[in-house]
Parts: sequence; structure tokens; C-alpha cells
Amino acid sequence: MIISRSVAITLDGEAHQVPEAITIIQAMWHLGRSMEKNIGCLGGACGACVVVTRLPGQMLPHTALACQMMVAEGLNVSFLQGDPSQKALAPLPAESPSRETVFQYYPETKRCVACGACTTACPQKIDVMAGVREMMMGDLAVVAERFTTCVSCDLCAVVCESRIRPYRMGLYARRLAGAFHPQKPLQLLNRIEEIASDKFKAEWEDVMQVGKNV
Ligand code: SF4
Ligand code: SF4
Repeated sequence: MIISRSVAITLDGEAHQVPEAITIIQAMWHLGRSMEKNIGCLGGACGACVVVTRLPGQMLPHTALACQMMVAEGLNVSFLQGDPSQKALAPLPAESPSRETVFQYYPETKRCVACGACTTACPQKIDVMAGVREMMMGDLAVVAERFTTCVSCDLCAVVCESRIRPYRMGLYARRLAGAFHPQKPLQLLNRIEEIASDKFKAEWEDVMQVGKNV
């Protein structure tokens, strides 16, 4: 019989024992908690399960996605609600966009005081503050690239004292870049060419043999 060890955690202020080597979301399930909110893809891609955590001896709390973070002895976890601000209806413009295109929907972006809180909070390790500063310089394509791995978890907006919503601004920049400066997917095109030239023929034949001699 496999006996799993347990760890003590504090979840939204209540003390619990849960098995070790599971994620915070799995700990919620283990405790029979209803997960109608704060849960989504379970793969770290949707940003629904944002938590603030602190381990014993840690001076400052950390932010994380609960589906990606493992429980640990003494871990203190609180689930966060997302950014409640209304989403701007920002259509694509008829002409090539500039930073003014973005600022008409997200004017608060100009209030950035470069405190860095958004970068510290981002569970995707995006330098969010750099993205905001790049938008102020009008580097739309650079901003779009920087926010490529954003999962819209809202944390950068939640922690911003200037009420800026960096991820929404970044998402709009991605839409604008896609519509006005589409780039060829060079890696994909290279791979298609390699496949067409039979570069992986031997490996493919090996794969096709799997299970045939069982
Ligand atoms: S938290 Fe807000 S004010 Fe601070 S760097 Fe980020 S966007 Fe600027
Ligand atoms: S940029 Fe903001 S919304 Fe996107 S992953 Fe980072 S903290 Fe979350």
C-alpha cells in the first residue's frame, strides 16, 4: 500500500491537511471545495485560478496560478477575484494604428509610474512594466510580442495602483499587430519544408512500426 505524506496548508484562512505532491487546485478537490469559480483550463493557459501565496519565512506574498503550483508545508493560499473593470470595446481601426489608437481606449496607460508591481505579480514572468513603457513609446509590434504568453489572469491590473490594465492594452496591441503587421510564421514554414524534403522520414517510419511486433 502506498501511503502519501500530508502537508499542512492554510486555505482562505482555514487550516487543512492535504496530501503532498498535488497542486492547489487538486487540494481544493481533495477538501471537497466547490470550484465553480476560479477554475478553468487546468493547464496554466486561461488565467482563471489566480492565488496569492506565502510560505513560512517568506517576507512578501507571491502570486501564482493554482493549477500550476504545488502545495507545500505551511503554504498559505488565498484565491483572488479578477479585475472587475469593464472591458473597453476596442474595434480595429480603418487605418494603420499608432499608440494614439490604443490610448483612446486605454488612456490610463499614460499614468504609469514605473513601480514594477505588475512585472512582479505576473505568473507568466512577463516584464509587464516594460510592455507598458514600450506602448508609451509607440512600439506596437514590440508590445504585441511581449504579451504573447499572457494568459489574461488580470493580476497586473489588480496590483496596479494607477488603475492601468496592462493585459488589456497588450491584448489590443496583439490584435492590432495581427491585423496590420502580420508576420510569416517562419519556424512553421521551415518545419513544413523539412517534412516535405523527407528530413524526418526515418523517424516517421520508426513511429509507424510502434506496436506492430507486439
Ligand atoms: S503596476 Fe501600474 S504603475 Fe506600476 S509599472 Fe505596472 S502599469 Fe506602471
Ligand atoms: S500580463 Fe497580466 S494578465 Fe497577462 S499573465 Fe501577466 S499578470 Fe496575467
